[in-house]
Amino acid sequence: MAQINVSQQLKAPIGSIRNYEVNETVNIDGVDDIVQGEVRLMRTDRGILVRGTLHTEIELTCSRCLSLFNYPLTLDIEEEYLPTIDIVTGAALPLADEPGCFTIDEHNILDLTEAVRQYALLTIPMKPLCHQECSGLCPICGANLNHSSCNCPPEPADPRWSELSKLVLTNSKASANKEKGTK
Ligand SMILES: [Zn+2]
Ligand SMILES: [Zn+2]
Repeated sequence: MAQINVSQQLKAPIGSIRNYEVNETVNIDGVDDIVQGEVRLMRTDRGILVRGTLHTEIELTCSRCLSLFNYPLTLDIEEEYLPTIDIVTGAALPLADEPGCFTIDEHNILDLTEAVRQYALLTIPMKPLCHQECSGLCPICGANLNHSSCNCPPEPADPRWSELSKLVLTNSKASANKEKGTK
């Protein structure tokens, strides 16, 4: 869990900066993934602005061949975290009326977990491919065509095309016969 105590920084003047090395496990897609990188925390007039680039790798299922593969994710994080209590008086602060804004809890803990999870989920492709040229599975026997070829006949063509190909075939036969006839 990527939790940072920011009590000192909340007392610091606006613009003060702190770099934080991230090396944590975050549950992104049901399993714990290691998230690494560096974020820069800056005190703003309202709270703490977090910016940085984080890297992780998640396991995805290829949408064509259904095999599992590791997919690297780069997360460019930029979020402002707002405090829920006044750092000096300890009084509860009214929550900013910004839906979905991230907050610093009453123990002055800034938790990156949810932001990392949300950024990661936005970065995951809708139809992941193990590699761009993935050959997929044979629709007849289910063989993974990346690893082996199978002996299945080629996919039956669209019936609309087979009518056309018959026509092309008879035409070519006819012209072949015509050619023979002229000789
Ligand atoms: Zn694949
Ligand atoms: Zn097959």
